[in-house]
Amino acid sequence: MLDLIIKNARLRFDNRTHRINIEEGKISSIDGGEVSAKKKIDARGLLVTESYVIAHLHLDKVYTYSVADKNTAEKYHKGNSIDAIREASRIKESLNEQVIYRNAKRAINNALKYGVCAIRGFADVDDILELKGIRALLKLKEEFSGMIDLQVVAFPQEGILSQKSTEELLEKAIELGADVVGGIPWIEKNNESKEKHVRKVLQIAVKHNKDVAMLVDDCCTSSSRTLEILARETIRNKWKGRVQACHARAMQFYDEEYLERVCELCELAGMSLVINPHTGPCNPPVERLLDKGITLALGQDDCSDAYYPFGRCKMTEVAFIASHVLRMMLPSHFESLYDMITCNPARIMRIDNFGIEEGRYARLVILPVRTVYEAIWYQAEPLILVNGNKLFKLKSRS
Ligand SMILES: [Zn+2]
Repeated sequence: MLDLIIKNARLRFDNRTHRINIEEGKISSIDGGEVSAKKKIDARGLLVTESYVIAHLHLDKVYTYSVADKNTAEKYHKGNSIDAIREASRIKESLNEQVIYRNAKRAINNALKYGVCAIRGFADVDDILELKGIRALLKLKEEFSGMIDLQVVAFPQEGILSQKSTEELLEKAIELGADVVGGIPWIEKNNESKEKHVRKVLQIAVKHNKDVAMLVDDCCTSSSRTLEILARETIRNKWKGRVQACHARAMQFYDEEYLERVCELCELAGMSLVINPHTGPCNPPVERLLDKGITLALGQDDCSDAYYPFGRCKMTEVAFIASHVLRMMLPSHFESLYDMITCNPARIMRIDNFGIEEGRYARLVILPVRTVYEAIWYQAEPLILVNGNKLFKLKSRS
């Protein structure tokens, strides 16, 4: 006898309904074999898709908007990101492990409610916060285990070269259990320090066999070019497929020749990119990157913090806004956008066995719509989330 059967499930790429059989947390077959199960759900022809994945979220900063300096958002949205980061760091004086834990827990519960099964959560490590954010997120990683896969990124938000203790704190964060080494080279003073920053992060990642997630060129000037440095260092360290870049907004201002060169380097480095069109003023050339075969995802980035006042870990909302900001409104765009909140971020986080196929781990949502287009249009809220052996009823049908 199976654990769960979902019958009359409409899948993304054909217009027919199917029976999804789930056993020991895995999709044992689609339309085949056994028909008796401990639990049966009739999806009644509604859409069943992969559940959502957030590959970039500043989880230690969520719900700090009310205490944030309101000039930060204004500066960030005008492209003056360095000053915005400096201003935003003042909030950290008022944060402690308990506050971060409480806020982040609220965000994770929201994510769960909206059908998210995995998050790459960033926690700052620096002279002010030290390891408080890391400790809070690691506690939540354990608490939510089996419900949400939380990967913790040790993120040197204030830079590495300008702060004495950060490099050591990054190492300590890894020892405590952080999963990913973060970086933000573009805020360092000069080109030499930017290069050093990238090298140090890669060095730590390789030493501890960890993935890298680095914020690059989160500004609107063509002279910010740390994406290129990151791609070169990834190739030099043979860390292909292990490096995620975030933001890269400056790409919008690169000249044609340079843009082509950087895209080729990213492709060679097997790098992925998480973009966040709703949280900032300019964006990388999405269609070109997709044509190049670079794995692209949409991140939540911020939830009600100094940089962005909204956000609720609802990825259909993020896809809806992205379709406007990026002018992606053709039927083929809807599938791309949907991939960017499901399987693409899952690939970036290197989640094994992701997708609705036989033999894969059961991570899926039942939505109150019939197509991906409608899911984005109505920013559909899942009725049911299945994560392995766990089943969550999120909303009753209307
Ligand atoms: Zn970010």
